[in-house]
Amino acid sequence: MNVLVVNSGSSTLKFQVIATDLERIGEDKDDRICRGEVEGIGGEAIIRIRYRSYPSRTLTAPLRDISATLEYLLRYIASDQSGVPEIRSTADVNAVGHRVVHGGEMFKESTLIDDRVLKGIEDCIDLAPLHNPTNIKGIQAARELLGKDVPQVAVFDTSFHHSLPEQAYLYAVPYHLYRRHRIRRYGFHGTSHRYVAFRYRATRGLPREQTNIITLHLGNGCSAAAIKGGFPVDTSMGMTPLEGLVMGTRSGDVDPAVVSIIARKEGLSASDIDMLLNTQSGLLGISGLTNDMRELQAELQEHDDRRVRLAIEIFCYRARKYIGAYLAAMGGADAVVFTGGIGENSPDVRARICTGMEWAGLQLDAAKNQETVGREGRISTDDSKLLAYAIPTDEELLIARDTVRVILGVPHPS
Ligand code: ADP
Repeated sequence: MNVLVVNSGSSTLKFQVIATDLERIGEDKDDRICRGEVEGIGGEAIIRIRYRSYPSRTLTAPLRDISATLEYLLRYIASDQSGVPEIRSTADVNAVGHRVVHGGEMFKESTLIDDRVLKGIEDCIDLAPLHNPTNIKGIQAARELLGKDVPQVAVFDTSFHHSLPEQAYLYAVPYHLYRRHRIRRYGFHGTSHRYVAFRYRATRGLPREQTNIITLHLGNGCSAAAIKGGFPVDTSMGMTPLEGLVMGTRSGDVDPAVVSIIARKEGLSASDIDMLLNTQSGLLGISGLTNDMRELQAELQEHDDRRVRLAIEIFCYRARKYIGAYLAAMGGADAVVFTGGIGENSPDVRARICTGMEWAGLQLDAAKNQETVGREGRISTDDSKLLAYAIPTDEELLIARDTVRVILGVPHPS
């Protein structure tokens, strides 16, 4: 089955075409046909597309919205000039898997999309006003372009965290706010946490029940999850993806009283502050330079800038604090797993986060840490009691696999 995986943001869209079925999933032999991303949707967009391991091609086109983007992509991939022989027409796309950001309390697993499900995703717009509308547009566009008979599946960022107990997901605010407005913690990056938890137990040959780990997804967005017996018992993102770790442009945890103090002192509205905490804070806010960890590390090396150092230190300190908190929440764990652009590629950040964690039995192997970049591997010493791993995430693969399993009615095991 050729599955088109769509991960759409407000002005960007990542996509892959993956050929997979139950047999290939079982043998870990899914076939990645092509992948790419579109940036600058709404204006003159840049489209990068790569067929298998061939060099990627860059194209530009005026693309006004998600619908125009999907139409452009499908037409291009199915055309002769794309050099993707597996997709000769849109009829060769057999299914679509969508990353959907918020599934609220309604969606506890990946779900075949019909009108009722689409309505449910619409009902969650209040919870993710920036993301769910774009996801809905992507679903509607795919339906228009491919026809109603091509099955589409929604894979939610929130659904892996449906196992959180009340003590972890309720805020200590008046309970009627939960009853009336579903004010609670939901957690995000679920597909990524779920995928690396699955890879961890596959690598170690463990059953799900023995998966007791802390996963750290460190990318532009960052979150931690405490996974006990294979399912999350806590996670750092909350009602929205703003809570928890320090991120590229997001503050993570702050005292909520700060909001009204900033409002008063700077004359800002609640939504201005929401914007400030989401887009001008985190690594960018502290360094005053960039939200990009790679650039910050280069800057630190070249100029030893004080605020750059501070940004990296605060980022790592917060992550370490969460590891400590989750060790307590879980009554101990077997491993810490790093993933996401920073977690997979930055030995320096991993080492800073793990500094001084010997009390918890965590000892990084400096050489293994240094050489495990962009690939899977253990990075703790042979006798470390708490293990550490770097595991590249692959949300698109999990979305493609879920799409197949949901369509075939096979309950998904991870
Ligand atoms: P997203 O959350 O948008 O999917 P990614 O997971 O791709 O983002 O992570 C992007 C972050 O990863 C950026 O801060 C980038 O600088 C960082 N990153 C990528 N490669 C490296 C590297 N070699 N060293 C340090 N940071 C890196």
